[in-house]
Amino acid sequence: MIEFQNVYKNYRVAGLDIPALQPTNLRIEPGQIFGLIGHSGAGKSTLLRLINRLEPCSGGRILVDGIEVTALDAAGLLGFRRQVGMIFQHFNLLASKTVADNVALPLKLAGELSGKQIQQRVSELLERVGLSEHAQRYPAQLSGGQKQRVGIARALATKPKILLCDEATSALDPQTTVQVLQLLAEINRELNLTIVLITHEMDVIRRVCDRVAVMDAGAIVEQGPVTEVFLHPQHPTTKGFVQDAEQIDESEQRDDFAHVPGRILRLTFQGQATYAPLLGRVARETGVDYSILAGRIDHIKDTPYGQLTLALTGGDFAAALARFDAGDVHVEVLR
Ligand code: ADP
Repeated sequence: MIEFQNVYKNYRVAGLDIPALQPTNLRIEPGQIFGLIGHSGAGKSTLLRLINRLEPCSGGRILVDGIEVTALDAAGLLGFRRQVGMIFQHFNLLASKTVADNVALPLKLAGELSGKQIQQRVSELLERVGLSEHAQRYPAQLSGGQKQRVGIARALATKPKILLCDEATSALDPQTTVQVLQLLAEINRELNLTIVLITHEMDVIRRVCDRVAVMDAGAIVEQGPVTEVFLHPQHPTTKGFVQDAEQIDESEQRDDFAHVPGRILRLTFQGQATYAPLLGRVARETGVDYSILAGRIDHIKDTPYGQLTLALTGGDFAAALARFDAGDVHVEVLR
C-alpha cells in the first residue's frame, strides 16, 4: 500500500541542509497497522508527513496504492489526499464548529455530496465512533477521548484507504488511550483500512500494531512483526523501549541473581505454547527442580506471550534444556 524507495528528507535551516530522514526503503502492506516508534527528534513525524506530502521529500520515490505521490501535480495531490485521513495529538478540531460540522468539513470541501448526503454520512460516522448524542456540542464541551473520536470520524469522512495517526493517544490518559486504540483496531478490521501510527510508547505498539519500525537519528534501525521485535529486540534503542514498556526497573536489570543457586534460563513463548504445561512435564521427566525468579504473561495484540526467568537445580540440566528447546519455546541461558 505504501512504498518508500530511497526516500530522504533534509530541512533547510538558515541556508544549511539539516538531515531529518536518512535514505529509507520501506513497505507497508494493505490492511496492516504499522507502528513507527522512536524518541523525540528521531524523524517519525517527518516520515509520516512524507506519505501524504504534507512535507515534500528531498529525494527518492514514494508510491501509495500505485500512485507516485512524489510526482503528483497540485490537482492530483488534492484528490490523492482524500484517500489519506490523518489524526493528530491535539485533535486539530475547529473550536467554533459543532462536532457534526467538524466531521462534515472535509465532505463540504470535496464538494461531491449533496447537503442531505453529507448529513447522512456524518450521522453514520458519529454513530460508528459512539458520539451520536454529541453531534451538536462544541469541542470545548468534550473530553480528550471524545475529541479524538471526532478527529477519527472526520478523518474517515472521505472513505480513505489509509489513516495516518500522529501521536494520536499521547495527550490521553491510559484508560482513554486503550479505548481509542480499540476503536482504531475495530476500524482497521471493518474497513480493511491501512493504518500508520507514530508513537514514543511501546505499549501503544504492543496493543494494536502488526508490524513496527524503530527509528533512531533519522533512520529505521530495526523492523519486523511486533511479536518478533518486542520479544527479541536487537538494537539498543528497541531494547530501551521494551524495558520501558515492561516497566523493568534498573534494580531488576542489575540483579544477576548472584544469590540464587543453580543454572538460570529465560524462556519466551507465544501463541498456543503459552498454555502448554511444559514446566511441570520437563521437571518430572528430567528430575530438575525450578523456581520462578521473574515472569510476565500478557498479550501482543491478539497473541498471548509469556517470559519466565527460572533457576534450575538438580536433575539432568542438559536434558531439560533440550526439552525446552524442542517445545515451542525460545530459550536463553543466562547463567
Ligand atoms: P519526531 O517526530 O521523531 O520527534 P521529527 O520528524 O519531528 O521527529 O524531527 C526530525 C528532525 O528534523 C529533528 O531534528 C527536528 O528538529 C527536525 N525538524 C523537524 N521539522 C523541522 C522543520 N520544519 N524545520 C527544520 N527542522 C525540522
